[in-house]
Amino acid sequence: MNDLSLTPNLLQADIARHLTFTLGKDAPNASIYDWRMALSFAIRDRIVEPWFASTRRTWAEDRKRVYYLSMEFLIGRLLEDATTNLGLRDIAVEAMAGFGQDFRAIVEDEPDAALGNGGLGRLAACFMESMATLGCPAYGYGIRYEHGLFRQRFEGGQQVETPEDWLNQAHPWEFARPESAYTIPFKGHVETRDGREVWVPGETVRAEAHDTPVIGWQGKWANTLRLWAAKPTTLFDLERFNRGDYAAAAEPEALARTLSRVLYPDDTTYQGKELRLKQEFFLTSAALQDILRRYLAKHDDLRALPKHVAIQMNDTHPAIAGPELIRLLVDEHGMAFDEALETARGCLGYTNHTLLPEALERWATFTFGNVLPRHMQIVERIDSWHRRTYPSRPHYVGIVKHHEVRMGELAFIMAHKVNGVSALHSDLVKKNLFPELERLHPGRIINQTNGVTPRRWLKMANRPLATLITDTIGEGWEADLDRLRGLEPHVGSRPFREAFGAAKRANKVALSNWIAAECGVKVSPDALFDVQIKRIHEYKRQLLNILETIAHWNKIRGNPKGPWVPRVKIFGGKSAPGYAVAKEIIHLINDVAAVINNDPVTGDLLKVIYPPNYNVSMAERLVPAADLSEQISTAGKEASGTGNMKFMMNGAPTIGTLDGANVEILQEVGAENFFLFGLTAEEVMRRREDPEHARKAIEASQPLQDVLQMIAEGRFSPGQPDRYHGLVHRVWHHDYFLVASDFDAFHAAQGEVDRAYADRDRWLGMAAMNTARSGFFSSDRTIRSYMDDIWGVTSAL
Ligand SMILES: *Cc1c(COP(=O)(O)O)cnc(C)c1O
Repeated sequence: MNDLSLTPNLLQADIARHLTFTLGKDAPNASIYDWRMALSFAIRDRIVEPWFASTRRTWAEDRKRVYYLSMEFLIGRLLEDATTNLGLRDIAVEAMAGFGQDFRAIVEDEPDAALGNGGLGRLAACFMESMATLGCPAYGYGIRYEHGLFRQRFEGGQQVETPEDWLNQAHPWEFARPESAYTIPFKGHVETRDGREVWVPGETVRAEAHDTPVIGWQGKWANTLRLWAAKPTTLFDLERFNRGDYAAAAEPEALARTLSRVLYPDDTTYQGKELRLKQEFFLTSAALQDILRRYLAKHDDLRALPKHVAIQMNDTHPAIAGPELIRLLVDEHGMAFDEALETARGCLGYTNHTLLPEALERWATFTFGNVLPRHMQIVERIDSWHRRTYPSRPHYVGIVKHHEVRMGELAFIMAHKVNGVSALHSDLVKKNLFPELERLHPGRIINQTNGVTPRRWLKMANRPLATLITDTIGEGWEADLDRLRGLEPHVGSRPFREAFGAAKRANKVALSNWIAAECGVKVSPDALFDVQIKRIHEYKRQLLNILETIAHWNKIRGNPKGPWVPRVKIFGGKSAPGYAVAKEIIHLINDVAAVINNDPVTGDLLKVIYPPNYNVSMAERLVPAADLSEQISTAGKEASGTGNMKFMMNGAPTIGTLDGANVEILQEVGAENFFLFGLTAEEVMRRREDPEHARKAIEASQPLQDVLQMIAEGRFSPGQPDRYHGLVHRVWHHDYFLVASDFDAFHAAQGEVDRAYADRDRWLGMAAMNTARSGFFSSDRTIRSYMDDIWGVTSAL
């Protein structure tokens, strides 16, 4: 379906037509926005046909479909991605050049669709692309947030949030489907009529569909990302308006729209907000109503639903799917409760993303029962069914406990498969998170190690390296990433290593120019680019990284003429707005950067760069230019990570702990190509038993003592010497994430990195090995495994 007959001239004609007739612009007056829209429409036109063809095939062959329910889809930009997957990039570049327009500039004019916080949302986006590439018939269901993740600025080194407004400009990739709409009920009460429970809602809103086609590699298949926007169900109140009560007249609309207005900017802590619960139900109910409508258009026996429908819950956010599906089957379609429960379970899978106790969703039964009174009854019935069916269930295990509804337990009990997202994490889900449920349901918990799409993260984001790979092993690796192993025999050849180094350097030159323009700091592309980009969180330990940076600075200052490897330390990431400790770490990194970057003694030997507003597009810039990937979380805390996989693919060795998918990266790439340090998950737990662990570790480390002393004395906050007293105190006396205990090992591992980098040839070999052995981390591998082990779906290709 890849249209080989398309020439730059033909594409130009399409673009010109859209510019004139869709946008109503005359070329001489067209802005970059107009050109971007015209090009996007011309590219979108090429997606529509394979999209229709895929949908028709799925209907005609009555294929089982996957429904991926996620509160977050961190998509990023779509123009270059779609163009790359259609194989039209070179043609598009030439076509735009013919109009005197620069394709790169146009691509960068597109705002990021930032409908997610971090890894969980980006995983959903990579999965959508892989499902399309593999011809897995699928729908993604999410919320069309008017405001995605907030924009981050720094003021005096501190994070300031401003609203994000990606929908201020028209979004060229979506099709509004006002005819595909469902009523979503909330609140009210439940009545018993003729022995049946009837929910009489107190409020309703309308969920309206907006569809974005997701095109796979080479345009062979396309799926739909269906995002729901909230609209009022009641008509505009003309009577109030005519009385002059304009605010009241507009109230129903404002209230309804609130539901899809903002993405909750916190991906790790549970939000005790009624609005959040309503958002979760809004997404889930709209999706399930849509799924049943599609099913009933072709079938009439709802008991066969699991043969045709697989529903994946991305974390517990859509875990209300269990009770909601039961409600629809029982209350609206007259199925018996036990049968409805088994039918729902046959459809549902649950992916667990975190072990952090503060991130496990729990709702007060009061809130839950108030917002979803019928579901409260159903949840209690599920819980008592489970208790009766598994009499050996311990009394402290259950869904409703201590006046709370536990969404993890609910999702587990209502799913036929529960998966963790890396080997280590899945193991900890069994041992620490759900040990009793694992015993009652052996085999239900399985592992599905995360992956990332190599089309976006290698082919598109790293053209120099992608070109070298194709020149070396030919085409086809993009959709069969294990073929990268074919690079291994070349790694021993010096010309290949030099070519690998040249590709990396091209990316580093581009990044240096961007850093100069964005941050006003000059960095040398020959320095080692050491990158830590991810949400700011205590467990991810940006603090460990910045403390070690200070120790490194001290070492250079002690011997400025020494044979130092110049380094650029690059940070990127946002903190949840209410997360004070994370915000303090951001402030510290910026304060340290200001001092180090202006130190004439260390000069180009050390720079600290922290560009604001980390997002997918920034990751696409930074990852290909990275020499070193920082994956230094406290062992046992990072479920998987996917940033670690992007770096590996792009030829950046990892400095990291044995955590999440790092374990599998180490296994694939080999210890000689990985800088391992730090306590293991088990050692972390044992270490914490010693209440003096922090003090002992600090007293054993002179470099760390010096660093903490400098911070405490206000060396990096001269105007406010006590700015970091709280932070330093916590490291000495609390240090739950074991920054102090891992400090010396991290410092030593960074020394190893310097020695390895100084031997350029050795380093290039390590870097190239990381790319060559990254095949396992393609999200195609992950999706194939979900299709086989959880969904029971086959490829339509
Ligand atoms: C990949 C990605 C993440 C996840 O990074 P981790 O290092 O795995 O936490 C977060 N945000 C963005 C923008 C990403 O592209």
